[in-house]
Amino acid sequence: MNRTLTILAAGATLLAGLAAPALAAPEVSLARFDCGTPQAPVPVNQRFSDTFAYGELKLQFVFSCYLIKHGDDYLLWDTGHAMTMPNVAPKVSLVDYLAKIDLKPDQIKYVGISHYHADHTGQVASFPKATVLIGAKDWEAISSPKPGTGVNFKPFEGWIKGENKLEALALDKDVFEDGTVIVLRTPGHTPGHSSLLVKLAGMGPVILSGDAIHFRENANSTGVPAFNYDRAQTVASVERLKNIATNLKATIIIQHDARDVEKLPVFPAFAK
Ligand SMILES: [Zn+2]
Repeated sequence: MNRTLTILAAGATLLAGLAAPALAAPEVSLARFDCGTPQAPVPVNQRFSDTFAYGELKLQFVFSCYLIKHGDDYLLWDTGHAMTMPNVAPKVSLVDYLAKIDLKPDQIKYVGISHYHADHTGQVASFPKATVLIGAKDWEAISSPKPGTGVNFKPFEGWIKGENKLEALALDKDVFEDGTVIVLRTPGHTPGHSSLLVKLAGMGPVILSGDAIHFRENANSTGVPAFNYDRAQTVASVERLKNIATNLKATIIIQHDARDVEKLPVFPAFAK
């Protein structure tokens, strides 16, 4: 009896050992797109700091979208400005970027939206087959009968009507359920703002910070943009992201900071 049990136990261990590689997480990689045309550097002291933290500092903002490949699945993170936006429209649309690597819009499984502002949501309507992942409170604002100022609800028409798929996230979401790609709840810039943690095997974990952080100096001081929805939530979210970065040795990539563009290779190359 004991012997049989031992053999069974040994067999189970062997099977578990054999099964492990099949269960290993698929390869994850990350690419960046320019999703708007940068304008001249702007003074950031007032609009981007409610504590006047930045003196004469002027910064050029860039507009970034990202593509995450997880095995054979794709998640797009933010959709940039609309192609019709005056002055800051992207030079290349997301659909055209994807065509360069033979991807069709319908192959995008998820579109993660950091928040409802126009420079992050402009091209979402190009992906009607994707499941949109968005913070519940931002979705409430978009789908409200009377959306507030700055809530770019129009491109979400298909989702508002219920024709397209959407998950309104009240908490973090482990997108592929293997811990490699996690939408992080980081409210404050907007009520349902989210950031994205992507665990790359080579480069290590990366945090795409949405607009929780606008530029490097924002992360190093508590200069909260004056137009943010909630100051205390913003400070707590920045602290959360910095703590995750310390604990996981993660690289924070600030989506609007021109100096952070070089942290990732130039598309069509992917960081791995
Ligand atoms: Zn924003």
